[in-house]
Amino acid sequence: MKTVQDTKKILEEFKKICEACGIKLTYQRLEIYRVLLEARDHPSAEDIFARVQERVPTISLDTVYRTLATFEKFGLIRKIYSLDEKARFDPNVSHHYHLVCTKCHKITDFEWPEVDNLPLLPAIQEWGEVQDRYLELRGVCRDCLKK
Ligand SMILES: [Zn+2]
Ligand SMILES: [Zn+2]
Repeated sequence: MKTVQDTKKILEEFKKICEACGIKLTYQRLEIYRVLLEARDHPSAEDIFARVQERVPTISLDTVYRTLATFEKFGLIRKIYSLDEKARFDPNVSHHYHLVCTKCHKITDFEWPEVDNLPLLPAIQEWGEVQDRYLELRGVCRDCLKK
């Protein structure tokens, strides 16, 4: 779990990246990023909008959409698609995989170094050049199993 101290540090880092990329750092953008950082559930744009609205009542959904597109363009967040066609957003841009619950659609991060280092099958090498590995495992999470 991230501590308050971690969040502070990441936000400082975020400000530096914005400066370097020429992204104007507005209060609204900062709040959108903060909501993303605090969310571990890979929220959709609508989820983010609802959460930011609690702090910034004047924000529009359109601003959230545009800000997310900007963040994604500069590699500050990742856009992912899973069970529903709706895009979900991930503040964790380091290499990781996802566990997806088919009941509540919650997406959980996990790392699997063995898979990162698994040698490619000849058929894959034949196919072309692999540039990235992404794995999504689907099932039912503990919380949903209990219900
Ligand atoms: Zn679940
Ligand atoms: Zn993730």
